[in-house]
Amino acid sequence: MSTTEQRVAVVTGAARGIGAATAVRLAAEGRAVAVLDLDEAACADTVEKITAAGGKALAVGCDVSDAAQVDAAVTRVAAELGAPVILVNNAGVLRDNLLFKMSEDDWDTVLDVHLRGAFLMSRACQKHMVDAGFGRIVNLSSSSALGNRGQANYAAAKAGMQGLTKTLAKELGKFGITANSVAPGFIATDMTAATAARVGMGFEDFKTAAASQIPVQRVGEPADIANAVAFFADEQAGFVSGQVLYVAGGPLN
Ligand code: NAP
Repeated sequence: MSTTEQRVAVVTGAARGIGAATAVRLAAEGRAVAVLDLDEAACADTVEKITAAGGKALAVGCDVSDAAQVDAAVTRVAAELGAPVILVNNAGVLRDNLLFKMSEDDWDTVLDVHLRGAFLMSRACQKHMVDAGFGRIVNLSSSSALGNRGQANYAAAKAGMQGLTKTLAKELGKFGITANSVAPGFIATDMTAATAARVGMGFEDFKTAAASQIPVQRVGEPADIANAVAFFADEQAGFVSGQVLYVAGGPLN
């Protein structure tokens, strides 16, 4: 592949939130983008935003925790858009609970979507990256990787994303592939709105309380994370690999 060809990116969980902002950003930078989420129809808004701005996008329905669906989705992307050489493993769910109340389903669902999903998607896309001699994998971790009350499942998954990232960087570097991780702090999305609802707070009050604890005194927006992902996905970021970038409005303890 020559670098003048349009690179193809896959963003998982791209129907909304951080994934949608990332898909739009990568498309604005000239990539053809596969907008992948559980429900293909739910990807329409993101696809429409990209195409309305003159970009190229494809909606793809896929459960990232299902190996057969992942393989079929990546095959379809390669056939309809081109070889996927940029992969953003962003799909995510929460099943928060204190340990003594956490069910095995809560544990398995979170580990399956984040960690197994990132593994399956990376495995399916890497052959296209190896063939191209170029690849960028960006895995969404979280400040919760450092430990967070009520999130044993999520913290384990997000810490796991960092170990996966570093291992992919070591295994795949010789093929021109980098792997990096973006670890957001509080970002205003449906996910944090759901957390506010769960703890019985209005979202505005929840955001105001969170912002008061953040050095830059605001919560993050999806575009803040898309910006960090775009850096790692950049053609010129080829010497940056195996890194974890916390994007949280300040340092974390
Ligand atoms: P979000 O608004 O809840 O969006 C997540 C997307 O992932 C949804 O569209 C969801 O689809 C999709 N998804 C869930 N399970 C999937 C599966 N099995 N296969 C494919 N897609 C699936 O979340 P967000 O806040 O944008 O978060 C995006 C990523 O950033 C997640 O990995 C999250 O853990 C991480 N993160 C977020 C924050 C934050 O403050 N928001 C902080 C740190 C890290 P449905 O709508 O159909 O469920």
